[in-house]
Amino acid sequence: MLSMEKPRMLTCLPGPRSKELMALRERNVPQGVSVNVPTFIKAGSGAMVEDVDGNLLLDFAGGIGVLNIGYSHPEVIEAVKEQTEKFFHAMVNVIQYEQYTLLAEKMNEIAPVVGPAKTMFISTGAEADENAIKIARRYTGKTDVIAFEGAFHGRTLLTMALTSKIKPYKYGFGPFPSGIHHFPFAYCYRCPYGLERENCDLRCVERIKEAFLSVVDPDDVAAIIVEPIQGEGGFILPPNEFLIELRNICDQHNIVLIADEVQTGFYRTGKRFALEHVGIKADIVTTAKSLAAGIPLAAVTGKAEIMDASQVGGIGGTYGGNPIACSAALKVIEIMERDDFSQKVTTINEILVKRFHKMQQQYEIIGDVRGIGAMMAIELVKDRNSKLPAKEETAQVVKDAYQNGLILLSAGILGNVIRVLVPLVVTEEQLNCGLDILEAAIKKLSDA
Ligand code: PMP
Repeated sequence: MLSMEKPRMLTCLPGPRSKELMALRERNVPQGVSVNVPTFIKAGSGAMVEDVDGNLLLDFAGGIGVLNIGYSHPEVIEAVKEQTEKFFHAMVNVIQYEQYTLLAEKMNEIAPVVGPAKTMFISTGAEADENAIKIARRYTGKTDVIAFEGAFHGRTLLTMALTSKIKPYKYGFGPFPSGIHHFPFAYCYRCPYGLERENCDLRCVERIKEAFLSVVDPDDVAAIIVEPIQGEGGFILPPNEFLIELRNICDQHNIVLIADEVQTGFYRTGKRFALEHVGIKADIVTTAKSLAAGIPLAAVTGKAEIMDASQVGGIGGTYGGNPIACSAALKVIEIMERDDFSQKVTTINEILVKRFHKMQQQYEIIGDVRGIGAMMAIELVKDRNSKLPAKEETAQVVKDAYQNGLILLSAGILGNVIRVLVPLVVTEEQLNCGLDILEAAIKKLSDA
């Protein structure tokens, strides 16, 4: 059974068939659509992939956090099949189907939102964030948005403006919508103010308060959008107080707090949503990725009064909340609750923490080990004092791991973070095997 296998190579990677398909891809697909590994998948199960050349790879990327429940979960397949046999699409603005409403009810029950809540569906994370901003503007009657350095919120024009990594996401794609203000995130390993957490007095929050005098009046700010843990930014876990203070600022100035849980949601951190670790609620929570196990679906869940601010017809989209996607999501939520994904993450976390810390003791290149639950990362540096980012070395580790059958993802503004987004159904044996491959790649660098 593929889901229980471990990496096994029949050819060098990429294999001959993948190479052929890559050549075809290069002729037909623009280079801007990036490639992490040049291998073509034939089948996926659990955390394992079989490629078109018969090689078996272990996947620590999970479709960038989409496959928390694993590739091809049999019960999700069943739910999807059942729905496809009834109807593929109906369009909720035309005729109603119960899955949309049932899933909205479920999201309203589980999302960490100041209740009572309401939910609307769209298809992608970017659309979710974009709609959240529209709704916040309509509700507050204000225009501006505060976002954070290192954030990733998507690639549409508005969300690209909210995203803060210039290359590759924004470079040459401007001009951007106005009224977006970026502030430093609480990236304590590289504190933008050069301070230590013990005595920083949350300088990053103070900066926002100062900026209300010099950059933007809070009376003009409709929303603060924040990832509770930055994903693409390099798995940056801010102190809880940072998020609590953002909540306070929003309360004080009638600003809508939008928590982007697109990457952190659905047990990645050990709880259904990352905000649950902090104990605060947002006014709006956006979700996507692992919500429907890979079928495009995203949600905007928010305080009912805020969500109802839009005029009829002002929000939505043709495919938003497609019945197949909603059926998959209802099943995903049911399985994750029933099969105690929280416990699965505790086990994954114990292994990752132990192994990463041991590696850090052994290999100077690992500057920082951080994260929570199964959202753990290591940051690679040329030396621990200067913290000079080891960007090329990180790319080398990703490449080397791939050639040994492990799909890895880098992250971070500086491109020097290796993050784990492994499906949460990975077995302990597979996880350790993947970490062996990762460690061997790091050792090779250190020995060089
Ligand atoms: N927000 C976050 C936190 C994300 O990680 C992503 C995707 N990486 C998005 C938004 C955008 O999602 P999508 O690619 O589905 O538009």
